Amino acid sequence: MNILLAGGAGYIGSHTAVELLKAGHGVVIVDNYGNSSPEVIHRLEKLTGKNIPAYCADVRDEKAVSEILATHPIDCVIHFAGLKAVGESVRKPLEYYDNNINTTLTLLKCMKKAGVRNIVFSSSATVYGEENPIPYVETMKKGSCSNPYGWTKSMMEQILEDAAVADPELSVVLLRYFNPIGAHESGLIGEDPLGGPNNLMPYVAQVAVGRRDHLTIFGNDYPTPDGTCRRDYIHVVDLAVGHVKAVEFAASRKGTEVFNLGTGNPYSVLDIVAAFERNSGVSIRYEFGPRRAGDLPEFWANADKARRVLGWEASRDLDAMCRDTWNWQRNNPEGYRAPRG
Ligand code: NAD
Ligand code: UDP
Repeated sequence: MNILLAGGAGYIGSHTAVELLKAGHGVVIVDNYGNSSPEVIHRLEKLTGKNIPAYCADVRDEKAVSEILATHPIDCVIHFAGLKAVGESVRKPLEYYDNNINTTLTLLKCMKKAGVRNIVFSSSATVYGEENPIPYVETMKKGSCSNPYGWTKSMMEQILEDAAVADPELSVVLLRYFNPIGAHESGLIGEDPLGGPNNLMPYVAQVAVGRRDHLTIFGNDYPTPDGTCRRDYIHVVDLAVGHVKAVEFAASRKGTEVFNLGTGNPYSVLDIVAAFERNSGVSIRYEFGPRRAGDLPEFWANADKARRVLGWEASRDLDAMCRDTWNWQRNNPEGYRAPRG
């Protein structure tokens, strides 16, 4: 199949491009490089030995997206193109609603015009909200989100689901990611947060490489085994392989289906620090600070449905996640801004 990756130069999109190409699919990328770099495309071509058509455009631009769909026979779109910083979304809600909702609407309109029937969407465990018990299961009702970012995901899920009800030809797969970390084992692509990391793993990696003095652990008084929050961390390459399965599944049926992509195993912040130290040989300076507003004590996935229906399950453990993060960070201390290796 030929897959259009909207936001494909980003962290998850770039790893998905590699796995799709490995599985024999073709990929086309559209990205405005708002949170990524054109250097990603060079790295992907080096890594895969393939020529990757890539367009610099805003996915809200209907004309640009329609032109891409007219140029390439696309079977499925994967929609990664979103703004994703939780704290920033609280400060700039309109920007988040505009970007995230309008990219979705534009993609759906252009797909309909071009006769593209399948879409896979990057959703998040955040849509389970604060009310649901853990582990999260796809059959649970969505909950209340604690920030505009989360609400955009919840709303985009609804928009896609409604579109599939109205158009019986449409196939929608909603993938609820848990906490993706790690990098491709080549060290050529990885997570490169522009303007400083918000998430735990890139922060730890930047402390290890000397770009940050120390990690602040947000709270050690949670009702968890060691007092720090627990999350379901998943290797980004496992997540990428999940997309290959999702694209193939999307093409085989109609309507909407939801899948958790997680491992089902929670780790605490202190577990992550210890595992990173063990796998890098670098000690991570940290101090405990106050809780971060909006953080839930712990959540993880029930990953049975993806195993049962998609035949997918995560296979890389926490050591691999840390080792590959460190390999990427050590070889690219300044991310994609460093000269190409
Ligand atoms: P990312 O920022 O690395 O990738 C998103 C890409 O989309 C970037 O390259 C960015 O430049 C591009 N983009 C954003 N708006 C665009 C627009 N209007 N037009 C064109 N390109 C645009 O983020 P990621 O971590 O790869 O996440 C991909 C998707 O997965 C996002 O939708 C994110 O919300 C979702 N998600 C991520 C996580 C996570 O922890 N990384 C967790 C759950 C869900
Ligand atoms: N965290 C932390 N210090 C940081 C960044 C994150 O202690 O500098 C904690 C955060 O409180 C949460 C966990 O690490 O418990 C994972 O946070 P992240 O932002 O990576 O993911 P999310 O909050 O989306 O689950």
